[in-house]
Amino acid sequence: MGSEGGRPVKARLIESREIAPEVRHFVFEVPEFERLEFQPGQFFSLSHPLGDRVITRAYSVAAPPSGNRFELCLNRVQEGRFSPFLFDLSPGDLVDCKGPYGNFTWRAPVTDLVLIATGTGIAPFRAMLRDRTALDRASDVILLFGVRYEQNLLYREEFEQMARECGNFRFWPTLSRPEPSWPGRVGHVQNHLDEAIAGRTELTFYVCGLKAMVDDVRQMLKSRGFDRKQIVYEKYD
Ligand SMILES: Cc1cc2nc3c(=O)[nH]c(=O)nc-3n(C[C@H](O)[C@H](O)[C@H](O)COP(=O)(O)OP(=O)(O)OC[C@H]3O[C@@H](n4cnc5c(N)ncnc54)[C@H](O)[C@@H]3O)c2cc1C
Repeated sequence: MGSEGGRPVKARLIESREIAPEVRHFVFEVPEFERLEFQPGQFFSLSHPLGDRVITRAYSVAAPPSGNRFELCLNRVQEGRFSPFLFDLSPGDLVDCKGPYGNFTWRAPVTDLVLIATGTGIAPFRAMLRDRTALDRASDVILLFGVRYEQNLLYREEFEQMARECGNFRFWPTLSRPEPSWPGRVGHVQNHLDEAIAGRTELTFYVCGLKAMVDDVRQMLKSRGFDRKQIVYEKYD
């Protein structure tokens, strides 16, 4: 642990709790003698033998480093092979874990930021924002978070509290299938990009979620003149 590509370690499930329908927040622990080092935004690779094969999947860490524990946020993919297995784990169960991996981490220098997530793509942003590095340096940070229904707004209270406490942080949830009573933003994250950009050019975008959204957002940003170096992204599929 702490170096890419090394041997797997056994991570023990401490707890998992439902935070939305078919979405759970997991806390795992590695043995005391393993040094658990990662940067917010990185992911671990979990694997387990299922049937006659070892299945391996990547999961972004959903919280900054804390002792020998790490947290994940994932949804159960209908007919998926690995996520239903993780949902069925009980506290004390073990999975093989390798990492950390990935470059979805804050770039320097920190400019104004637009963070764009859909679904469990919010996981790395929870870790990155709780770490405070960028929030303390950027003058303006917008978190644009798209889900279908209000109940899918993962960690909503945390981000709302962050927005109350940090004058430079704005939380923009948007629902693609809102109830008529929803007073907030509606539609896909793409619909709100131009308002977030607000004519600015010195911005860095971080985008995380499924490929279709990430590709679409990147395309939109390129067509508005942003350089690819200004767009940092992580695709889940
Ligand atoms: C770098 C990286 C980080 C990731 N981090 C997370 C994370 O923090 N949380 C998380 O839930 N998933 C994350 N994923 C996705 C995860 O690795 C698995 O693909 C997902 O759990 C589905 O695995 P499965 O074996 O259950 O489904 P499979 O049997 O592999 O079925 C794949 C199907 O699931 C879809 N799919 C993949 N991920 C999702 C998702 N999150 N929501 C809905 N549909 C999905 C794919 O489009 C595909 O149609 C990440 C992927 C990558 C590459």
